[in-house]
Amino acid sequence: MNIYADNAATTKMSEAALNAMLPYFRENYGNPSSLHSIGQRANEALWAAREDVAKCINAEPKEITFTSGGSEADNQAIVTAARLGAKKGKKHIISTAFEHHAVLHTLNKLQKEGYEITLLDVHENGIIFPEQVKDAIREDTCLVTVMFANNEIGTIQPIKEIGAICREKKVIFHTDAVQAAGHIAIDVKDMNIDMLSISAHKFHGPKGVGALYCRKGILLYSIIEGGAQERGKRAGTENIPAIAGMAAAFKDAVAHMDENAEKIKKIRDILIDGLSEIPHGILNGDREKRLPGNVNFCFEGIEGESILLLLDDKGISASSGSACTSGSLDPSHVLLAIGRPHEIAHGSLRLSIDENLNEEEAKYIIETVKDTVRLLRGMSPVWRDLMSGKQQFITK
Ligand SMILES: *Cc1c(COP(=O)(O)O)cnc(C)c1O
Repeated sequence: MNIYADNAATTKMSEAALNAMLPYFRENYGNPSSLHSIGQRANEALWAAREDVAKCINAEPKEITFTSGGSEADNQAIVTAARLGAKKGKKHIISTAFEHHAVLHTLNKLQKEGYEITLLDVHENGIIFPEQVKDAIREDTCLVTVMFANNEIGTIQPIKEIGAICREKKVIFHTDAVQAAGHIAIDVKDMNIDMLSISAHKFHGPKGVGALYCRKGILLYSIIEGGAQERGKRAGTENIPAIAGMAAAFKDAVAHMDENAEKIKKIRDILIDGLSEIPHGILNGDREKRLPGNVNFCFEGIEGESILLLLDDKGISASSGSACTSGSLDPSHVLLAIGRPHEIAHGSLRLSIDENLNEEEAKYIIETVKDTVRLLRGMSPVWRDLMSGKQQFITK
């Protein structure tokens, strides 16, 4: 068996995306800023991709700026709102405790520059309530940034309601939609979104390319100085093959979204039901309001890292949280944010599946995880203490 269940970290590039890229490595390799016809063909591809990406989220082409990925888009959105706020003496920003580090670390930096940051607490089910945002907004608030769907526990936030509150209070609303784009429907107009970040490699596109949607009327601040590419909003020769690949992958994902989601959800629910049979485990994140492909559990008495290595030996690629934190021994900030104690936040397992995983593979995953948890607990001194009553179980 060879099962890839780490699609929240990155996805396999689709044939459609690869085929859309190849001509821009080969015959149409021009620089879109050049006036000759090879360059102009690249420029046409750039604008066609912009139109495609815009359509996928119900935006206008001019509202789309291409970036090197989700992280850059998050940085640029937040810095833009911070600079615009500072001009009016507004230096308060609202976000949440379980954002991606591309958001949290940018906010840390701004805090050191004198901005005040409010991080909203996350409810145990992994959802932010719109009222929390409403209560936190002040006269001097210049930005609310709340992720669309969480990358570890997959929970989907009430974006439209939060957007409506921000629109009413005239506060810029940004959402990191990197996990949502291509997987669940996004409509920036209907959802009252001012800025939104996406990344191609999370929906079967290439790595190193993303986009920032910025509603017209909001002047985007450039964080990379240089030429006048992207209408002065992002210097550097555009990565045309990657941009064309992203547009193709996004279009494809949106066109097949409903059928894929239905298929993926069915398998996800088989996984959740099967893994729920493991004693002293707990599902992280709301059972219903989660991404079609996300499964995340904590199992008491085991370490996240060891389960991943053993699963890898059995042909299963999984994760214990975000790709950025695995490798460090700190428990996930997301699991701590939803109130999981340190002891169990360490023993987490994230399976993020796509439309290619079938029922037979799901059953293999369930049996393998059950065996692996049993094996690890058999060797765990913590588990021995729990069983002997020396230490109390946290989960049922
Ligand atoms: C992956 C991810 C990012 C970072 O995107 P890159 O393109 O890898 O820079 C940001 N936010 C979320 C929620 C993500 O899942």
